[in-house]
Amino acid sequence: MAPRGGRGTFLTFSSHAPKPAASVRSAVNQNDAQPTADPSSAYVHVPFCAQRCGYCNFTLVAGRDDLIDGYLRALEKELEDLQTPRPVRTLFLGGGTPTHLPPPELQQLLTLIERWFPLLPSGEYSVEANPRDVDEARTDLLLAAGVTRISLGMQSFHAAKLRLLERDHAPQVLEQIWPRVRQFASVSLDLIFGTPGESLDEWKADLREAGTFEPDHLSTYGLTYEKGTAYWSRVRRGDLTPLDEELERDMYLAAIEHGESTGLEHYEVSNFAWPGHRCRHNENYWQGGEFFGVGPGAASFLAGERRVNHRSPFTYVKRLLSGQSPVQESERLGAEDRARESLVFGLRRLEGVQLEEFARRTGHQVADLVGDMLPRFLEEKWLVLADGRLRLSRDGLLLSDALWPHFLRR
Ligand code: SF4
Repeated sequence: MAPRGGRGTFLTFSSHAPKPAASVRSAVNQNDAQPTADPSSAYVHVPFCAQRCGYCNFTLVAGRDDLIDGYLRALEKELEDLQTPRPVRTLFLGGGTPTHLPPPELQQLLTLIERWFPLLPSGEYSVEANPRDVDEARTDLLLAAGVTRISLGMQSFHAAKLRLLERDHAPQVLEQIWPRVRQFASVSLDLIFGTPGESLDEWKADLREAGTFEPDHLSTYGLTYEKGTAYWSRVRRGDLTPLDEELERDMYLAAIEHGESTGLEHYEVSNFAWPGHRCRHNENYWQGGEFFGVGPGAASFLAGERRVNHRSPFTYVKRLLSGQSPVQESERLGAEDRARESLVFGLRRLEGVQLEEFARRTGHQVADLVGDMLPRFLEEKWLVLADGRLRLSRDGLLLSDALWPHFLRR
């Protein structure tokens, strides 16, 4: 439901918000010799929204609810290929907007998932939701299905900013639904900063307003302008002016300060959580774990191979209903590429990378992968090396998207 996040793609950083690291291509298992046979995570992509927001380039169709039935039949076929139910520790329903499905279809989807991806005890079950959709009927269905975590694409509490983002919910919607969403064990809010014309004070007001609800988890994303979106075209036409980079940096720092002052742990570049409320599903991606991914555009990483389904919901449905595979591309990454990606994912986490453990797991030394850049980045104080652990400094956090290409490049 937003720009800089991922959903069952290899760029899975969060949801309903600006995509962070377009430079990071995949989340992969680092254990080259023995890929695990039973991934503990599953992602289900639900490609429907009421309308497409101007900044969104996710895999979805807007205003085509007539395709929901075909999608559910196709998804069932894709799941039947698993042959046997696969118990998982984390489940994530993303989109699009899973809660856009009308209650009967949502129930059908939840039943399918329960059958093929039963959740293990103490598992995490996340669902992305548009706050506008969180009515009593859908909430009851989600709770009855065992959903533990709801991730709300709120984005802002300002009417003008929501209008600019082309969001279809009101700024006060959270007050109305909050008693209902608090029934979930964990509640996450997504906020976007850096919209054209936004001031630092307006952003701080968004953070303060979010803080009054005391969410368990907060994701904050800087707006990005992805090729193919309406926003991209508007920038090219001169109709929208991206914010000054300096101001965006100050906004990001304000989010970090908000986390520090409210006790939310800043555990990943864009994510903050109370103790015990990190998104375990995303942590699996960031740690290079295996995962199933079903639905249009969904990616999976299984037995050392990553696969991505056809992005077009039309093609996805057509292929599955005519007995063809939904997979559009698959590849096996070499050990060094996996090590490089693991390094980037590791550094995105605030706790950084433990060098000995990294070398043991990947077969590669960080110093060999980064080469001359390592002493330079340490000297510039963008990276900190202490107690055998490498992590981003505060300045490094601000620059991180510019640093990743140096780690990924051979
Ligand atoms: S609500 Fe739908 S169109 Fe809007 S950002 Fe989210 S996924 Fe994209």
